[in-house]
Amino acid sequence: MSLTRFAPSPTGYLHLGHVVNAIYVWGTARRAGARVLLRIEDHDRIRSRPEYERAILEDLDWLGFEADEGRSPVLRQSDRHAVYEQALSRLRRTHHVYACDCSRKEARLRHTQVSLQPHPLEARVEEGRYDGHCRDRGLAETPGRSLRVRIEPGVESFQDLCLGPVSQSPADQCGDLLLRDRHGHWTYQFAATADDAEQGVDLIIRGNDLLESTGRQLRLAHMLGRSGMPKFLHHPLLMAASGRKLSKSEGDASLRELRAAGVSPASVIGRAAVAGALAPDPRPVFARDVAGLF
Ligand code: GLU
Ligand code: ZN
Repeated sequence: MSLTRFAPSPTGYLHLGHVVNAIYVWGTARRAGARVLLRIEDHDRIRSRPEYERAILEDLDWLGFEADEGRSPVLRQSDRHAVYEQALSRLRRTHHVYACDCSRKEARLRHTQVSLQPHPLEARVEEGRYDGHCRDRGLAETPGRSLRVRIEPGVESFQDLCLGPVSQSPADQCGDLLLRDRHGHWTYQFAATADDAEQGVDLIIRGNDLLESTGRQLRLAHMLGRSGMPKFLHHPLLMAASGRKLSKSEGDASLRELRAAGVSPASVIGRAAVAGALAPDPRPVFARDVAGLF
């Protein structure tokens, strides 16, 4: 039995885009006989807030999306420090992990100066392309410095279940990966990859705004010694009828607002299905029936 996950970050309220992702996650899982793990991605200790986590859980319950794992007790990254430490020591055994004292701004600046082929899809990269400035400086790992791992050149290819064959070159796209930032917080790339490996997630379903992360996560997974790589499905983001991306007012309405306006859970899911180009017209859809949309 395979396992997929719904992995919201508690840095804001759920909106229609999350519902589209939930439809894909639960719909695909139910079709494929896979289980769904709920994972709260609160690795960003500055932006994550308990009240957002509470709201996310409440909204998912209200919508009727039931996770098979990770709901009770709630599975959150902030409780998994030991797992990431362990992954880090594993990485150190065979790869070059080093301390870095470049600020994000400096790393980005060098990116714009040295990059010959800026990447158009680099939408949610946390650090820009890092040029390896600190790679051989032998800096001590002291508080206030971040940690990176050396990324060797080479192509990562995978067969996306929605997009077909994809090839990426992490060394060119992001350079040496940030594992822990200078505040001591684990990065999304590292925490999510370590989690997916350790939790046995073998089907990753997410919006195509995260497509650029996949090559580097595959590389990291290999470096962590994961055997058997997960499958990936990157789905379209919210689209308005004309094919343009939804505007803030259309797409960013939080579920809280829709709920407050008296919209029912099935209507919200129905609207999201249309916005995600999964249904032609906004008929109510119950969470337990989303597999029918595929
Ligand atoms: N936590 C990420 C988000 O809320 C999702 C990460 C993923 O699916 O890999 O956008
Ligand atoms: Zn540096």
